[in-house]
Amino acid sequence: MKKLYLIGNMKMNMSLSELEPYFEHIVGIAENSSNVVGVCVPYVYINMAKYMLDGSKVLFGAENMYHADKGAFTGEISAHMLNDFGCDLVILGHSERRHIFGETDEDINLKVKKALETGITPILCFGETIEERKAGSTYNIVERQITSALQDIDEEDIGRIIFAYEPVWAIGTGISATSDQAEEICGFAKRLLEDNYCLKNSIMLYGGSLKADNAQEILSKESIDGGLIGGACLKLDEFQKIIDTKVEK
Ligand code: PEP
Repeated sequence: MKKLYLIGNMKMNMSLSELEPYFEHIVGIAENSSNVVGVCVPYVYINMAKYMLDGSKVLFGAENMYHADKGAFTGEISAHMLNDFGCDLVILGHSERRHIFGETDEDINLKVKKALETGITPILCFGETIEERKAGSTYNIVERQITSALQDIDEEDIGRIIFAYEPVWAIGTGISATSDQAEEICGFAKRLLEDNYCLKNSIMLYGGSLKADNAQEILSKESIDGGLIGGACLKLDEFQKIIDTKVEK
């Protein structure tokens, strides 16, 4: 069996009372799975994740961070703070950060470097908008986003990054990319990483309306090593079905 990486992105959802049973159950789900299970949670719940998930098979982390170590950055959270709470993962370059909060390729590059320096695994998101796809510029956008995020990072460190192809038009819309569309761009990104950075075994996730009923087909594709899961991670029974996906090597 291929070991899949199935990582939830809770976004700005869930409450303290919902998360307690959620964390309790996900520990058991991960224990019985041969896949890698993770959850990225809102900052305020990271402390709870530390106490409920540390020492279990569930990886946990944040949905963002700031690149500076400390200082006058009201409202921001540093990589060191995430590290203090045992975060394994941090999502960087998510399209909602790029498009709603105006994060640039340069910001994302600084954040990826800082996460790596701190020992936290960045989940680097990239993907085109529907306008960019229609204009035929998907490959250019993907190449630009990956190349700029990896600027001045050495090849060994690039090997510690988890990549996530997330077409913007598929995120939270209920309209997933087809398995062929996802495979095409994940394959392209993997070749780019191999050709330009000598990275042979990159971990490449697909994200965008991944659900229990399309997980098997999408996750069976050769260049896809798992999923970044937004809406469907909020309901544990749905997330569990995705986590239960089995794919032959
Ligand atoms: C995401 O936000 O990373 C995501 C993939 O969301 P959704 O699964 O809801 O499309």
